[in-house]
Amino acid sequence: MGPAPARLGDGIADVETPALLVDLDALDANIAAMAAQVRRSGAVLRPHGKTHKSAAIAALQLAAGAVGLCAQKVSEAEALLPSGVGDLLVTNHVVGARKLERLCDLARRVRLTTLTSDPGHVGWLSDAARAHGVEIEILIEIDAGDARMGLQQPDALPDLARAVDRAPGLRLRGLQVYNGPLQHMRDHGARRQAAHEAADRAERARDVILSLGLACETISGGGTGSFAADLERGLFTEIQAGSYVFMDEDYGRNLDAAGEPFRPFTQSLFVLTTVMRTPNPGCVYVDAGVKALNLDCGMPGVHGRPDLAFTRASDEQGRVEVLPGGRAPALGETLHLVPSHCDPTVNQYDWMVGVRGGTVAAVWPVNGRGCLI
Ligand SMILES: *Cc1c(COP(=O)(O)O)cnc(C)c1O
Repeated sequence: MGPAPARLGDGIADVETPALLVDLDALDANIAAMAAQVRRSGAVLRPHGKTHKSAAIAALQLAAGAVGLCAQKVSEAEALLPSGVGDLLVTNHVVGARKLERLCDLARRVRLTTLTSDPGHVGWLSDAARAHGVEIEILIEIDAGDARMGLQQPDALPDLARAVDRAPGLRLRGLQVYNGPLQHMRDHGARRQAAHEAADRAERARDVILSLGLACETISGGGTGSFAADLERGLFTEIQAGSYVFMDEDYGRNLDAAGEPFRPFTQSLFVLTTVMRTPNPGCVYVDAGVKALNLDCGMPGVHGRPDLAFTRASDEQGRVEVLPGGRAPALGETLHLVPSHCDPTVNQYDWMVGVRGGTVAAVWPVNGRGCLI
């Protein structure tokens, strides 16, 4: 791990940059707002830990009533254990002998659920669970409409559900239905309709499972872009939103029902960067580049500075241009960048600096950083 960029009690000016900054008041408000909305609907919240990869933030979500956490990788799930979580869902198809062994180790420590959509894979999961003397709970993942993940042939569902039900060491718990691209559909009506269509698919699949005389107690899915439509539709028993804790520029490009930028939560995540060169009045260079950001969804925003535009990044520096009529930041001045895509930006950092009222109030490790396996 790299050195921590700040100490408790530091002011923002003391933080060494580039640094991943979390506004703790905004974080708390986002955690409370999502918890309240899901609770009111009668569903439960299982936030996705791939966004923050932080045991400390997972603990805050659990304290606010989350039933457990999602993780995308087995190692990421392991990294969340210091939060005290007792119920984990690995939202992926875990393949390979070593990974399955680690999955079974996890199943000894927490209630563990994972996904499948393939009869051959059911055999692997069952063999591993039996060999290690554990029970693994299973959600059958069905295609949510984007033909990206999950079972794409509804006709194959009865045999798959029976196979899971009969497999020693496995328990059929229900369905997973998550459509990633739909979370980022800009138009509110289109996003809502796609979410309802995903729920319709889940409803048909649930009815097939029930018609076999099997139980389907959990239907898990939904994200930050779809959760309101998912709760309104009332089919999901469990919501898996992740990005809501931080938000990002890309989610800010979604529109709400009135056609305004979608801002149900407050931006809490920033990359703090320092101006290190001011070569001419029209642009400055800052110390955050490709290795401090993530640019798959575009350039970061510059928080509170509509007169500036982050236009280009090289490995270790970024170019910030001064728009007409704008004020060029001075050498040594810091800027708060708004990441364009929160999850992979977090994965660039060993540490997260929590700030409250201008003072560093937490320095948290990003426990799951680099947990790709
Ligand atoms: C990323 C992800 C989520 C969370 O989505 P957000 O848009 O970040 O809220 C939920 N479920 C699965 C399977 C995911 O991959």
